[in-house]
Order: sequence, then C-alpha cells, then structure tokens
Amino acid sequence: MEKWQPGNISREIFNEACKVIPGGVNSPVRAFQSVNLEPFIVDRAKGPFVYDVDGNCYTDFICSWGPMILGHGDSDVEDAAIAAIKKGTSFGASHKDETTLARLIKSRFPSIEKVRLVSSGTEATMSAVRLARGFTGKNKIVKFDGCYHGHSDSFLINAGSGAATLGVPSSSGVTKAVAEDTLSAVYNDLEGVENLFEKFDGEIAAVIIEPVAGNMGCVLPKENFLQGLRTLCDNYGVLLIFDEVITGFRIAKGGAFERFNVKADLTTLGKVAGGGMPVGAFGGRGDIMDFIAPAGSVYQAGTLSGNPVAVACGIATINKLTDNLYTELEKNGACLEQILKETADEAGVKISINRMGSIIGLFFSDEKILNYDDVKKSDSSKFNIFFETLLKNGVSIAPSPFEVMFVSSVHTKEILNNCKPAFLKAFKAVKEV
Ligand SMILES: *Cc1c(COP(=O)(O)O)cnc(C)c1O
Repeated sequence: MEKWQPGNISREIFNEACKVIPGGVNSPVRAFQSVNLEPFIVDRAKGPFVYDVDGNCYTDFICSWGPMILGHGDSDVEDAAIAAIKKGTSFGASHKDETTLARLIKSRFPSIEKVRLVSSGTEATMSAVRLARGFTGKNKIVKFDGCYHGHSDSFLINAGSGAATLGVPSSSGVTKAVAEDTLSAVYNDLEGVENLFEKFDGEIAAVIIEPVAGNMGCVLPKENFLQGLRTLCDNYGVLLIFDEVITGFRIAKGGAFERFNVKADLTTLGKVAGGGMPVGAFGGRGDIMDFIAPAGSVYQAGTLSGNPVAVACGIATINKLTDNLYTELEKNGACLEQILKETADEAGVKISINRMGSIIGLFFSDEKILNYDDVKKSDSSKFNIFFETLLKNGVSIAPSPFEVMFVSSVHTKEILNNCKPAFLKAFKAVKEV
C-alpha cells in the first residue's frame, strides 16, 4: 500500500514548525509519530468536518480530543465568544459570568458544592490532588494503570504489573520522591485497591479515577466497581476524586453521578466545560473546597483563571446540553458503533467495542476489554493501517490505538453513513496485512 502523505503546504508548514517547536507540535500526539507519518496542518473546522491547508476535508472523530460536543463552530458559542471579546479579553479581576458558570456546574453535579475555575484539565487534577493532601494531611495517592490525568508530575507514573507496585517514573524529569507517592492499581480490580489501602493504611490522601476511562481507549467500569471504590474510600478515610475531564458534560447531563449514582468528594472538569476554549474546574464538598486559598491554606491561583471569553464559551456550550441533545449524542454514538461493527464484520476483522454515549473505544481484539493489560494485548499493529486508510478516505481519527473516537451532536446518521465506505476500506486493508 502506498503511504499516505500530507499535502505539500502541510509538509512545508510542519517542516518550519519543527525548526522552532520541539517535534513540530505543542502536544505530542499531534505529531503522528506513533503511526509513522507526518501530520496534516489544519486550516479551519466547521460542524463535523476539519479542513487542512491543502484543501482536504476530513470527517473529524477527534473533536479536539473531546471539547467539541456540539461540533466545530457552533453559532451560539461563536456569538458568545465574540460578544465577550468586545467587553475585554482578560481582566485579572472578578466578573459576573464566573459565578454563572460555577452555578451551572453545581446545578449539574450534585457532588459539587463549591468549584474553582482554572484553565486546563491538568491544572484541575493537579490542584485537586494538592487539595486532597492539604485536607487529609496525607501524601500518597492511588491512580489506575492506563488512566491519564494530565501531565503534572504525580500522574506520569507507569504502574508496572500488579496492583501493589510502587510508582516508577514513566517520564524523565519526574523525581523518584514524587513517583513514590503515586501508587497504581488495576482498573476494575477492587481487591487490588483494598490491598493498597491495607498496605499503606493512614498514608493515602486520595484515589483519582476516570469513572469511564477514556485514555486507554474506552474502558467501562464493571458493575459496582465505582460503588465499591466509594465504600472502600469511606472505610479507610481516603478521598475519592472523579477525573471527569472527558466524561463531565459528555456521558450524561450530570456526568458520572447520573450514570452510576456514586458521589465523589472532588471532581475535576475540563474539555467540554470550555466548549473549545481553555476552561478547567475542580470542585466538590464545601468543607474540602474551603481549604483553598484565600479561604484556606492550600495555594492555587491563575492569571487567566475564569477568563471571560473562555467562560462565555463554556456557558454557551453547557446551556445547549439539554436532555434532547444527550438523546442525539446517544443515537449518534450507537450509529457509529453499528457502522463499525457491520463494516468490520463484512471485512472479516475481529473487533471489540466499548462505548458510553458519544465516546467509543475500538480494539482489534475479540475479547472484552476491562483494563490496561487487556488494551495492551489487543493487536495495535493493525491500527496504523486502519488509521492511514481512513485518512486517505477523508476520515480523521486520533493517531493512536489508545485514544477514543468522539462524536458530536452534528455527527448525524447521514454524516456517519457517508463514512461507511471509508471504514469498510480500512477494515479490508487491516484484513490484508
Ligand atoms: C485531557 C485530560 C486531562 C488533561 O486535560 P488538559 O486540558 O489536556 O490539561 C486530564 N484528565 C483526563 C481524564 C483527560 O482526558
């Protein structure tokens, strides 16, 4: 098969980028390195489509890695941004819309009594963990293998095998001292968590988890897993943090609580919360949140926190997320799942799909995927050819087998059906290798 190549203008721009930006990108996966290609360069995006500088159009299943739940360039969000810009792009002082967004978030998440706005998911999780440590006076945290919580030091830990393994840095630059305070457990394995709680009793401040994992493909919590985690946390005096940077506003109107009826002590938000602008948030129990400065002793701050343009986009986006819209998202997600299953079947390729609403994880495996080990066992070598064939046929998915596909409210049945031939070709190409 002839290798997919970005157009000449894309290549020229990327070459120039590589001279001044490390690896040519401002976030690693964008470089297409994992699929041995060079990236196309985006000119603009509208609705379910993204257009490159060479004039190619792709149906976009990245959706900016989650935020674009209404599709690109929603006119209400655009109008809100423009109106906000005209009043000033940053004040470094309080404005009314911050409270409007905080109230909106609180109204959707019953576990959130107070919330602080930040500018990214990374800031949200980093601050939530500092707060948990400040509140409990304990140092260690537990995370799950294959979950991603942004790029702050505490989270860049590779568990190795087994639940009770002490952290080993998986990024250079993370000190051993920091790594030792991060314990890693296996997703969907309560017993492993309990063993850690036993072994490090009295030392653990919090458990942080993606209630539906979206950074090792999509992995769903087993029935009662989150409930069991809640009970364990209560029994051992450990705080439970739901990292809902992907799932918040995405899997249901009220996020994980609505889906699973489990209340976290702290919740982190991002992505959809800003509707494509830099907004993150962390919130939860009032008694814990009051430990944050200036109310309390845990320091956290941000020059652009609560930025008026970003906040306006967040409000405009969340206001459109009605019950009807979630019905649409569910329909669109189910439709894509169906198309993937049909085309894979027709091509004779075995796949396993995990889906929650508009989040879809596709694995080249015929087994149920329940944790990171399962994910790693699925045949990701097939992914490159799948990815490349899709690009050639006008479909853009994330360039990694460990990422999910997102659909928006404008990825309608018609749009998805138009992608069917591309998926069929891609699965046939996979079958041939
Ligand atoms: C994307 C993501 C983050 C980090 O958010 P950024 O805005 O990229 O810093 C944190 N947690 C989860 C679950 C994410 O998917």
